Amino acid sequence: MTRPARSQRPALERHVVWVQENVRTCQDCGLCCTEAHNAAEILPVEAERVAEHLRGLPPGERRGLVARLEATVKHYQLPKRGELVRYTCSFLQKDMTCALPLTVKPTVCLSFNPLTEDACDQESEWFHRVHDECEADNALRGFASERLPIPVAVLRALSSSEPLRTERPPRPSSPNSGKRRPPSRRFRP
Ligand code: SF4
Ligand code: SF4
Repeated sequence: MTRPARSQRPALERHVVWVQENVRTCQDCGLCCTEAHNAAEILPVEAERVAEHLRGLPPGERRGLVARLEATVKHYQLPKRGELVRYTCSFLQKDMTCALPLTVKPTVCLSFNPLTEDACDQESEWFHRVHDECEADNALRGFASERLPIPVAVLRALSSSEPLRTERPPRPSSPNSGKRRPPSRRFRP
């Protein structure tokens, strides 16, 4: 099966490193990952990337992260259909860094960066450029098109070998799903 060229995702990963070196280092304040601002939703193909990473971790580490995913879903009662729900991401560590490596993080996370000395925000152009590739890959692999909160999507990806294929129609559009618009989260860290 022919896959679309994936030139944009590595370019975004390089861009994140460039931002860190040339604009401002992420101060790991974690605000973009906590319930204060985070309502990130991802496609099944992105969840599968995270799930594949988790499957490769030592069993104890994997079990710990899965327990955190389950606790987050329960605590915030994710997903609430038809509305965006803010939640503190399960992958946010105690030191406020992300447990996922750059090569695994969802697009919505990679494209949220320090823009100036005192503000962070979504870089929409980067988001849409990479997300378009994700959508194409998602469709090619026969996954459902609905976007779900990160913990819900990753648990589904982990739960079976083909957990994400579904005939269900996408849920009603929300500012962060149907329109593929990343959440606006500009703020001072
Ligand atoms: S808000 Fe900005 S500084 Fe804080 S964790 Fe997010 S990207 Fe880093
Ligand atoms: S995956 Fe990482 S960067 Fe993205 S919201 Fe969760 S903790 Fe933050």
